[in-house]
Amino acid sequence: MTRRGENHAPRSAPGRNCLFIDIHTHLDQYDDSELPGVLQRAAEADVGAIVVAGVTAAGSARSVVLALANPALFAAVGAHPQDLDGPLSGSDLANLDSLAGDEAVVAMSEVGLDFQPSSPPHDDQEAALRAQIAIARNHGLAVIWHMREATAECLRIMRDERVGELGGAAHYFQGSYDEASAVIDMGCKISFAKPLLRLPELQDVAARIPLDAIVLETDSFPQPFKKNREKWTEPRDIPLVARKLAELRGIDVSEVMAATTGNALSMLGARGEHLAARLGA
Ligand SMILES: [Zn+2]
Repeated sequence: MTRRGENHAPRSAPGRNCLFIDIHTHLDQYDDSELPGVLQRAAEADVGAIVVAGVTAAGSARSVVLALANPALFAAVGAHPQDLDGPLSGSDLANLDSLAGDEAVVAMSEVGLDFQPSSPPHDDQEAALRAQIAIARNHGLAVIWHMREATAECLRIMRDERVGELGGAAHYFQGSYDEASAVIDMGCKISFAKPLLRLPELQDVAARIPLDAIVLETDSFPQPFKKNREKWTEPRDIPLVARKLAELRGIDVSEVMAATTGNALSMLGARGEHLAARLGA
């Protein structure tokens, strides 16, 4: 088992002509009829690689199918804490373990903890998270995780399970500077999405943490509650987040592109090599 933190030195920064990576989406939840348009608009926005994360074993299987059929898509597999229906079953874990070995898979996601009042029992969530980190370790996969109203508990588990050795990211990050620092100190990345466009406290965090700790995502999923289809979040929105980050840090957006793409490839390690090849990085 390679220890990513030691043996996977950050790749040399991709060249000026590199593309963006959207490290976390749920494009598996879109109808097949929607996907060509979503992918076309992403390509036009210089988003060259998109990670599609399942939230159940079935959704993870669809993510793998989509990744095998579309050169810009790469799969992540996992069971989301909010989607647990009791303890994660042995058959679900076996399915996830089997999927995790597929070449199309670049990360374990979406896993994590969610302690909102309506959430599944915390014990079931913690057991599912630890079992899935074990699968990630078996397969050399980075862990891209969710933590809502459970930051301290989630970071305790991540440290305990030495997730920094695997590489990983706190997805859709909206926490404090101290929480970001704790994630970075354990060897993981901070993944910013569109909340960066509107939250002043988050903008302050994004301006202060090291650029080499930042990756970008959209968390795209179908949003029929938005009547105007044009307003659905899609991977094409990555440049909005990148431009805001560039503005906050007083650097050019091309520098944000090169850094965040390099950071994502470094995080994914050996399992991301075909994604790197796709980008020519
Ligand atoms: Zn998500």
